[in-house]
Amino acid sequence: RRRVATLGETMALVRSRDIGSLRHASDLALGIGGAESNVAIALRRLGLDVTWLGRVGDDSLGERVVREIRAEGVDARAVVDADAPTGLMLKERPTPASTRVLYYRAGSAGSRLSACDLPDGWIEQADLLHLTGITALISESARETLSVAIDRARAAGVVVTFDINYRSSLASPAVAGPWLRDVAERADIVFGGTEELELLYPGTDAAAACERLLAHRPAEVVLKRGADGATAVLATRTVEAPGFVVDVVDTVGAGDAFVAGYLSGLLDGSEVAARLHRANVCGAMLCMTPGDWESSPTLREVRQFTAGIGDPVL
Ligand code: ATP
Repeated sequence: RRRVATLGETMALVRSRDIGSLRHASDLALGIGGAESNVAIALRRLGLDVTWLGRVGDDSLGERVVREIRAEGVDARAVVDADAPTGLMLKERPTPASTRVLYYRAGSAGSRLSACDLPDGWIEQADLLHLTGITALISESARETLSVAIDRARAAGVVVTFDINYRSSLASPAVAGPWLRDVAERADIVFGGTEELELLYPGTDAAAACERLLAHRPAEVVLKRGADGATAVLATRTVEAPGFVVDVVDTVGAGDAFVAGYLSGLLDGSEVAARLHRANVCGAMLCMTPGDWESSPTLREVRQFTAGIGDPVL
């Protein structure tokens, strides 16, 4: 079976069940969330062997993070950092159809990720290494870890995929742009939204940014277009795939489910159009429930959704 490695910060996630400001909310639910572990869990559901690496604090929220990732069948390599707490993410629902995310992650254990946390052979044993721009922005040591991980993957012939995943709370566009561009230009496949691609090359539009990336290492740039679906840009052709119409509850995490759908298709040997189709199904299904990763589908649920039979979300 194909094996994917990913690394990054996973936080405890506190979500309000009440509609309205957290000022008055009393009904809170505890879970976990992090772009890379969301992708890891989604890939595991789609049948791949997945290993996730990250730092957590020596606290009960860190234990919760590790326990939850392991419970999903992902090999969690957690480095326990006694000197910093596990990061926290709060999700507020100002209105039934909107979500606001607040982060308490500055100085967190997850942001203290360091290149020495990468075990020998851990990357080299994978078929694919998935990274996100969040790791590039959470700290200097995490950014360096990303760079070392890419070098090691490339030296071992491991495919490197990168989701730009720009978070304005972590760095301004002017600061983040060059860092994200440096990582993107060294990846084999890059995922991003229109604005994220434009951020890499200020003054260019997304189409020109794709061309610029393809002139470097990437062979594919996959543009996520929300409810409109997605477009894959390759050197010789562009493939478009429309999104699916679903009852949207919360779109946070849709991008991660989408990436997992695309990567699982790639590792199954599917063509670009089939990868995009599966990715759009995974992204759409994730929008139908409040969780960041919980409704990521299995292959059976993808098939059921596609066939339009049964209830696709368990
Ligand atoms: P996030 O960072 O919130 O996880 P993103 O900004 O990276 O998401 P989007 O473009 O919002 O990515 O969504 C990713 C994919 O999820 C889309 O390409 C599409 O397949 C699916 N998707 C997102 N929003 C919707 C929607 N409203 N209806 C149907 N599918 C959607």
